[in-house]
Amino acid sequence: MTGNKILVKSYGCLPVTEDDRTSNGVNMKTFLEEVNEKINGVPLQRCYHCRKCTAGCPLAFAMEHNPNKVIRMIQMGMKNEVLGSSTIWLCASCETCITRCPNEVDIARMMDALREMAIAAGVGAREKNVLSFHEAFLASIKSRGRINEPFMMVDYKLKSGDLFSDMGLGISMFMKGKLSLVSPKTRDLDAVRKIFDKTKNA
Ligand code: SF4
Ligand code: SF4
Repeated sequence: MTGNKILVKSYGCLPVTEDDRTSNGVNMKTFLEEVNEKINGVPLQRCYHCRKCTAGCPLAFAMEHNPNKVIRMIQMGMKNEVLGSSTIWLCASCETCITRCPNEVDIARMMDALREMAIAAGVGAREKNVLSFHEAFLASIKSRGRINEPFMMVDYKLKSGDLFSDMGLGISMFMKGKLSLVSPKTRDLDAVRKIFDKTKNA
């Protein structure tokens, strides 16, 4: 049979068809296949939308699309909407969702994969300051192997341009000795840098 032949078992959700895969005569991966490949675990077709993940997500109240809706949008091939959404940047990777999921769908990993895809596709981040925070966090780990909060926050402020918010809180924490200018350095910084090198183009 030619045309719309089903290629992958659908688990009760949208099938992946030959039509989905062909663009100008070139075979393309569907968005669902791309995300599944990056997750490299339980496929998103296993989600049966019971919403247990969303019910437990501590940030669902602030999200543009709740976690199980993001899965549905991926199943429907809504790539631009998903990669352009603020939701993928608000996920805190707390893993409450996978703990509650009866099918062990790894939504935290999925959000990670979507953030990577948004950056790779040049879409960038809808939540710019969250991306600046990620970058400052990773830069601090890369340079010392550990977080130095005051230096990381200065880096974040410069990257985000948000110079004065939380200033009072920062000074108050410093006065109480909660922020130290001297941070311990990891013993094996080379090992940390090798991880960065290895995952740079992963
Ligand atoms: S808890 Fe699991 S199966 Fe239920 S909606 Fe969330 S991802 Fe899907
Ligand atoms: S990992 Fe993300 S989506 Fe899952 S519960 Fe935590 S914040 Fe919500």
